[in-house]
Amino acid sequence: MGNNVLYIEDNPDNMTLVKRALEARGYTLFEAITGLDGVSAAEHENVDLILLDINLPDIDGYEVARRVRASEKHSLAYVPIIAITANALKGDAEKALSAGCDVYMSKPINIRELWARIEAFIPAPNSR
Ligand code: MN
Repeated sequence: MGNNVLYIEDNPDNMTLVKRALEARGYTLFEAITGLDGVSAAEHENVDLILLDINLPDIDGYEVARRVRASEKHSLAYVPIIAITANALKGDAEKALSAGCDVYMSKPINIRELWARIEAFIPAPNSR
């Protein structure tokens, strides 16, 4: 099991925050700022977990999740996907799960929650 995390996020502040938080725990972060680049990164990099913003400038996170799950790259059928969104609208969680995400988190990002959710899938290289 590797420790490569792909974060698909168009907000640079969130990207910086999460990059620091994950690198502190020893994860390696791959960055994508559009949905299409994110799908491409998932297909071409060795990715162990995906953090997925829902509001993206091109295709939305739900569509990213559907394309990742439908990929011909076999490992993407089961790579963990954690959806992260600012939309607190009722039904968003169900929508993320039905698109193929495993877990749903709301913004603002809580780093302790993020660590815990990632560690539920892949242990932190530098944990404690
Ligand atoms: Mn966004």
